[in-house]
Amino acid sequence: MKTSLKTYESLLAEMEELRLQLQEANETIDAIRTGQVDALVVKSGDEHQLYTLKSADQTYRVFIEKMKEGAVTLSNDEVILYSNSQFASMVGLPLTEVIGLSFSNFIHEGSKETFGDLMRQGWKSDSKGEIFLKNKNGEMVPFLLSFTSLELDEGRALSVILTDLAVQKEAEKQLKQKNKQLEEAQLAVTKINEHLEELVTERTHELFLSREYFKFLADNIPVIVWTTRADGSADYFNKQWYEYTGLNFDQSKEAGSQQALHPDDFNATVQAWNEAVQNKTNFYFEYRIKRAADGQFRWHLANGTPLKDEAGNVITWFGTSTDIEDQRKELDKKDEFISVASHELRTPLTSLKGYIQLMGAQKDLPEPVYQYIHKASSSMVKLQNLINDLLDMSKIQAGKLKFATEVINLSDHLNAWIENSKHIYSSFSIKKEIAADLFVQGNADRLEQVVMNLVNNAVKYSPDKNEIIVRAVKDEDNVTVSVTDFGIGLSEADKRRIFERFFRVDSESSLTSGLGIGLYISSEVIREHKGTIGVESELNKGAIFSFSLPLTKTTQ
Ligand code: ADP
Repeated sequence: MKTSLKTYESLLAEMEELRLQLQEANETIDAIRTGQVDALVVKSGDEHQLYTLKSADQTYRVFIEKMKEGAVTLSNDEVILYSNSQFASMVGLPLTEVIGLSFSNFIHEGSKETFGDLMRQGWKSDSKGEIFLKNKNGEMVPFLLSFTSLELDEGRALSVILTDLAVQKEAEKQLKQKNKQLEEAQLAVTKINEHLEELVTERTHELFLSREYFKFLADNIPVIVWTTRADGSADYFNKQWYEYTGLNFDQSKEAGSQQALHPDDFNATVQAWNEAVQNKTNFYFEYRIKRAADGQFRWHLANGTPLKDEAGNVITWFGTSTDIEDQRKELDKKDEFISVASHELRTPLTSLKGYIQLMGAQKDLPEPVYQYIHKASSSMVKLQNLINDLLDMSKIQAGKLKFATEVINLSDHLNAWIENSKHIYSSFSIKKEIAADLFVQGNADRLEQVVMNLVNNAVKYSPDKNEIIVRAVKDEDNVTVSVTDFGIGLSEADKRRIFERFFRVDSESSLTSGLGIGLYISSEVIREHKGTIGVESELNKGAIFSFSLPLTKTTQ
């Protein structure tokens, strides 16, 4: 049987071949290590690839040139054997001049010792350290130096990579500065916060106290007190309210306190209140509230005032409700008395008037007697006017001031009334500017009463002046009649109340006689005519009382 075993000779030959290959490999490695060859052939598959060591060196050169860092190689005695252009530009010299110089040229005096230490350390093993170099302008620049020792053909050398720390240091410095500023700001904020907290505590306490003072005051006055938010929703009632109505807070704050108000007054009250809230004006209203103690509805006068900030926004509403039931009853009694008294006075007055007329008609009486009769007659007219006013007032109170109206030529009537008043007030110069043919639907007697009342007042309240102007002007669909005087005038507060019943200005200059019901009756007469009445005046500068009536369609 033939065997495939190799012969001893062929094995020796193979071994010799392998030994040669090994020797060749060792020689190649040695050659590469010692730089004797500058190319490598690498077999990959069937292809052969050639790598020159020079090209590898070229690659590293490019890397080093492109680095942001400086790179130098130093000899044992600190001479620069190699420098990249980055280092050359850092020190402001051409590359060719840098090579061959001693590196110590570029070290700042204060860093020389540190550099020496770093060098010594660098020769032994890789090391790092920070020193100051001098830049092209001779300024100190911080650098981080990384040392690595190299074995070169020519001997040992030290490679140094230099990283400029100036930017980093500057950034660190700025960061530190910013941090410091931040800390300071934080400290300031903390201080402000603490101050604010103190202030808030203080103010909260003050607010608490002032709220307590307010409640104490509100609970100890004999009227009902309430407050609401700007939108008119209730947020406080005093003790008197709860005692009076027997309601709790939740029941009370329901829309307009429906449970407390008289059903007949509820809608009108809510409407008046909503108007006041919307217009931010005072709420002045009378309504009945149920007294829990006896279930009786009693009249109250409510007065709500908005508290506003500087911009005119309402902060809160402050209001009171005063029980005026007893006063109203007294007033009712007074009205009743006035009504009865004026009726009772009218009968004897009528007969008195008749007798005076009879006496006046007598012939052959001594002259002084005629004068007495004349004086008695004019006093009687005054008395009759007073009694008529009282009767009118009673009628208004009872809702019975009714009169017939017809289309009248107001211009003609006005001319006649003014001519008449010129006779009555002969010491006054009464001027008139009356537009012609102003037709209105009215009652001539009642309108005469209004005009004469205004003229009478103009005379009465002009103690030092004697001029009055009566005007009637057409103004779109209305006629406006005005009576202008130059007398004592009215204050803002008085102007608002002038048409109230019994209201008379309480000042020394108005020490004139009067009942304070003339303007009240006039305003009711004008209201019945579907007109409006008003006054413009300034204290001591006279007054202009005027009323407007709708013109009728027959106006030419
Ligand atoms: P009386 O004149 O009888 O007091 P009125 O109702 O006519 O009543 O007037 C009310 C008040 O209005 C007067 O008391 C007076 O204080 C004031 N007043 C009326 N007319 C004038 C006026 N022309 N100038 C200044 N004040 C006036």
